[in-house]
Amino acid sequence: MTIRFTAAVAACAIASTAAAAEHQDPHQLARDLFKQLVEIKTTESGLGSTPAAEAMAQRLLDAGFPAEDVHVVGPGGRKQNLVARLKGTGRKRPVLLIGHLDVVEALREDWSVDPFVFLEKDGYFYGRGTQDMKDGDAIMMTTLLRYRAEGYKPDRDIILALTADEEGSNANGVDWLLKNRRELVDAEFVLNHDGGGVMLEDGRAVQVDLTASEKVYADFDLTVTNPGGHSSVPPRENAIYSLARALDRVSSYDFAFELNNVTRAYFEHTAKHSAAEQAAVLRGVLQTPPDPEALEQLSGDPVYNAIVRTTCVATRLSGGHANNALPQTARANVNCRILPGHSPEEVRQELVKVVADPTVKVRYYNFLTEQLDDVAPNVRGYAPPPLRPDVLKPLEKVAAKMWPGAPVVPAMAVGASDSIYTNAAGLPTYMVSGSALARDDIRAHGQDERLGVQAFYNAVDFFYDYLKAVVAYR
Ligand SMILES: [Zn+2]
Repeated sequence: MTIRFTAAVAACAIASTAAAAEHQDPHQLARDLFKQLVEIKTTESGLGSTPAAEAMAQRLLDAGFPAEDVHVVGPGGRKQNLVARLKGTGRKRPVLLIGHLDVVEALREDWSVDPFVFLEKDGYFYGRGTQDMKDGDAIMMTTLLRYRAEGYKPDRDIILALTADEEGSNANGVDWLLKNRRELVDAEFVLNHDGGGVMLEDGRAVQVDLTASEKVYADFDLTVTNPGGHSSVPPRENAIYSLARALDRVSSYDFAFELNNVTRAYFEHTAKHSAAEQAAVLRGVLQTPPDPEALEQLSGDPVYNAIVRTTCVATRLSGGHANNALPQTARANVNCRILPGHSPEEVRQELVKVVADPTVKVRYYNFLTEQLDDVAPNVRGYAPPPLRPDVLKPLEKVAAKMWPGAPVVPAMAVGASDSIYTNAAGLPTYMVSGSALARDDIRAHGQDERLGVQAFYNAVDFFYDYLKAVVAYR
């Protein structure tokens, strides 16, 4: 009796909260979630991800999600992840939505406002994570809560994973879930809200990105050591000179030109929407083999150059210990962004060849362990997954309605995200977001991070329509 009575009361509570959520203004709901997330300090030095994962789990339970579909899991302690499931008819395999809860550090004294107080000012929401990516977390949560409140039964389960340690440290939530709780997150494909997006120029949407490919990040340490000695009797051999020559060779070296299905599609789309001269260059590069003159011209643009080849650049330099002594050590950091399909070890070996001096040691710098390794990881950045029509077509349709005239452009990110884990695990991953940013207002990881108020609400509306269109696509 008692049990049945409790169950009945619980069912009532569920019905009334679900009804409340349905009648709640979706923008207000999204804003509340956004505020709540920004004000939980999910930095490494702060609280970690656990309080945010728990808070979002509570929101879902309050809205009537069954406890069996809401999990807070992880290695324990500060780095827990939320995994929630909106059950569908099971006609198709699930879709997984991912977003990271952690944010990079932000110091009050560096900002003009408190980074952990959600503030609406002059048409913007300010706070750490407003661009990267508590906006996306709040938007995906809002979408799930709305679908649940309407009693929507999708053709496939929709799984949401909000995770730890995307920005670094050693408990990456997506990696952990795939290795330890695969059954919770297994899906036919993945939508990652940590990329894509709408590009604004003079306040107008000009492009909607579909990011389906990423470069891999790697640091290499170049070190030369000499016995040293007095600088009054210098031999020819000198650590600083050797390192300078090595860096000079790196500076003039071009890694091989390469296109993949994503960057090829990117150039094809861009050519269609470019002025004649620019279009001719892009079409020249698309030829097989590429027109050498067009390629040279394209490579002169650092943004385009980074799309068609692996790049390596010196970013730090140190050496010597006294003005009147021969340097015993000289070292530099060379930062590389590696094209999909190639591994850091492959690039390290290529750097060794480019440097062409056995006295220059080329080692991999592992930023997680802060160690120098003689050999770099052999994992390859994932080959871009094919552009699925059920991801691309709905994006074209919804974007045309919301941002008329702004073409959908398949793109490659020059940074790296959690997509690397899902793709490596065989779950094709696409980065889609309706958040709009001006090209010159990218503040992720920076000071006074902010997102336009209207841009956020548009992104809320966008994702609600988009995800339904993806799930319903036939
Ligand atoms: Zn991010």
